[in-house]
Amino acid sequence: MLRIKDLVKRYGNDKPVLKNLNLEVPGESVVSIIGASGAGKSTLLRCINRLVEPSAGSITLNGMELTGLSSGQLRKARRRIGMIFQGFNLVDRLTVMENVQSGRLGYIPTWRAALRRYPQDDIDRAFHLMERVGIAHYANKRADELSGGERQRVGVVRALMQEPEILLADEPTASLDPKTSRQIMELLQALAAELRLPVLINIHNVTEAREFTQRIVGMRYGRIIFDGDPAALDNDA
Ligand code: ADP
Ligand code: ADP
Repeated sequence: MLRIKDLVKRYGNDKPVLKNLNLEVPGESVVSIIGASGAGKSTLLRCINRLVEPSAGSITLNGMELTGLSSGQLRKARRRIGMIFQGFNLVDRLTVMENVQSGRLGYIPTWRAALRRYPQDDIDRAFHLMERVGIAHYANKRADELSGGERQRVGVVRALMQEPEILLADEPTASLDPKTSRQIMELLQALAAELRLPVLINIHNVTEAREFTQRIVGMRYGRIIFDGDPAALDNDA
């Protein structure tokens, strides 16, 4: 369960870009966050994954407070958070397996890190997850030999390798065609249920958000202006 309470974020001395946000996302539920550019969607994700320090308020993940941490605690906390990106953020010249294993490392590997030998347990786990998402037969292919949808599956498996307690996806379908987008959104839904993970998806495509998620959070000027069933969302929202 993710619990956000009275979250405020301001950059420098500017006006806050997040204004007393409150949000709860139970495990196994998927929330799409929509809103115009500048609404604060990325800032919200960056506060949760702690790329930025919130100015005020509280964020807890399964009871653990994510704000106000020391740098050591912060590193640990960030390992609990799986990230999925619009541009996939794979290392092209590395194999799928190497990219996937970097999830365990918690950082993007250099050649040397990638060449280290992985424990058999990690390899088994990677194959299990790759099979689940349908990319196991690509394990030894270079990441840049894969299609967009396949690359995003690699990104998903990499995030899951760190055994996260939440998945955050920043525009995960923005680089994909509609059919592939649908597959990735359905995969995220299924994984949320199977792994009992809360999943937050920043998405600019409102049609996709409505079609693929049961819960939409609409943001505007740093506030949540809608939180609920897509059917209740105004067409012009
Ligand atoms: P969205 O993801 O909804 O487009 P953002 O969270 O990126 O919104 O941006 C929200 C507001 O915060 C915008 O006005 C943006 O200019 C501002 N902002 C984002 N990042 C920074 C930053 N690093 N420094 C200063 N202002 C920022
Ligand atoms: P600009 O970048 O030109 O100042 P924005 O629309 O990005 O204009 O707004 C910047 C900030 O001003 C927003 O984060 C919001 O806090 C506030 N703001 C702008 N328009 C409105 C509005 N119609 N209602 C409430 N707040 C607004």
